[in-house]
Amino acid sequence: MAGSVTTGSCNCGGVKYTISGPLREVVACHCGQCRKQTGLFYAATDTLDANIDIVDDGSLKWYAASDFAKRGFCGVCGSALFWKRDGSDRISILAGSLDGDMSDIKMERHIFVEDKGSFYDLKDGLEQFAQSDDHTPRPDPNTK
Ligand SMILES: [Zn+2]
Ligand SMILES: [Zn+2]
Repeated sequence: MAGSVTTGSCNCGGVKYTISGPLREVVACHCGQCRKQTGLFYAATDTLDANIDIVDDGSLKWYAASDFAKRGFCGVCGSALFWKRDGSDRISILAGSLDGDMSDIKMERHIFVEDKGSFYDLKDGLEQFAQSDDHTPRPDPNTK
């Protein structure tokens, strides 16, 4: 998949996108907002804006969940799809919305673990961060 064109979509097909080029490793965010939006946690890859083409955005909605980022989702089927920091040239994409083979990307770490739901445990041995991590610093983790 890396280096080629990847496609993705929401559950009903109202939103479709293509990504060219490699995808970042998957980061799992366990913050309260991601927990609420997904019911569990937000496992997202990431790419440059220039590499993604949202070819069908007929039902795409954006929700400003904080004063520094927006969350894209399908307004028909409710699938969570994107996370976008204001002013950033990158976009996070829920790994589960990718179509077909996802074996080229792997989950690498967990962030905002201190906010995770108490009904599940993390036993995969991956690196855990209580709040943000060094790779994707956030202005104020407490407002995330
Ligand atoms: Zn949909
Ligand atoms: Zn989060």
